[in-house]
Amino acid sequence: MKYVKSLASIIFIVLFSALTVVGIVYLSSRNSSVGDSEGVYSSGILFAMDTTLDITIHGLDEKAAKADVDAAVGLIKRIEALTSRFEADSDVLKINANAGRGAVVVDPIVIEMVERSAAMSGICNGAFDFTIAPVVSLWGFYNKEFRVPASGEIDSVLPLVDYRQVAADKGNNTVMLLKPGMELDLGGVAKGYAVEKVCGLLKERGVENALVNFGGAVGAIGGRIDGEPWVIGIKDPRGGAGDIIGRLELEDGYVSSSGDYERYFEKDGLRYFHIFDPGTGRQPEGVIAVTVAGPSSLEADILSTAVMVLGVEEGTRTAEESGGFELVVIDSSGTVSYSPGMKNNYSITVDSRI
Ligand code: ADP
Ligand code: MG
Repeated sequence: MKYVKSLASIIFIVLFSALTVVGIVYLSSRNSSVGDSEGVYSSGILFAMDTTLDITIHGLDEKAAKADVDAAVGLIKRIEALTSRFEADSDVLKINANAGRGAVVVDPIVIEMVERSAAMSGICNGAFDFTIAPVVSLWGFYNKEFRVPASGEIDSVLPLVDYRQVAADKGNNTVMLLKPGMELDLGGVAKGYAVEKVCGLLKERGVENALVNFGGAVGAIGGRIDGEPWVIGIKDPRGGAGDIIGRLELEDGYVSSSGDYERYFEKDGLRYFHIFDPGTGRQPEGVIAVTVAGPSSLEADILSTAVMVLGVEEGTRTAEESGGFELVVIDSSGTVSYSPGMKNNYSITVDSRI
């Protein structure tokens, strides 16, 4: 069995002007903190939440920019410590240990993530469901002992997957999973949430031009210091590590990508990836890659996962109805399609098929 987790994140950030040939090599060859040139600071590739983090800040001297990156990393570590399924004492593990037994007092960060995620799950008709954990566990994605479960095993855990059986109480700061055996997995939302909070923190610290790329969840503060927008390369889902199929320009906004190509294993010639349809407990079919752009990061992150499950038509409709989100989708035949407003609102070029 072969397991693949691409090291570089789904989205590549291109730091050159929109007219320059994309700078993948430049980006991926850096691995330490560097002040590239005056007023341009890149954190290099850092690691958190089992993925890569890359922050670029324009317009500050290296010392100030480095302090901003350190503050951002501190915030991400804090969010990780609260939401991880692997760090002992995380709020998520405490909630899971008390499933069906009692409400657990948690950090307001966790309450906010749970409430906003549940609201999005409603909008997505349950295609995003943060109680998917028993399914993810069966397929071996937590302990990396990958396997294809028998139908009976999947059927036996599906009753535990239901985001409506999670009670969050903002007044008392508690969360409770109502059925024994339920488990919370905030993995599909933590990066998007973290990008939003990091962008907020950087803005508070006076940063006016920055780009945050956290494992495929991207946030832009302003544009580049030279007045040009940031340019984001969209990865070719069937290409090599640095291959892109398109570019999207971004200023003051968020982008998130999901796909079947970042974390998966293969067995008997079939690909089994890390996103599951909460209705079936199996990988959804039909969409292989989604990029969502819009005004908020947590919601964009959720939508990109949900569109993998909802398919092109329902996914496009849901994104549009969610308030200002646009998307580009690649289906399993390699055809690329856009939501109606994508090209009006963003400068984007993508090959018409792969
Ligand atoms: P991607 O960026 O490709 O969407 P994410 O890491 O953001 O990947 O989200 C996928 C993770 O979310 C999985 O690793 C799993 O833990 C969890 N997950 C899988 N399927 C779902 C789903 N339908 N709803 C909510 N979370 C999911
Ligand atoms: Mg995601």
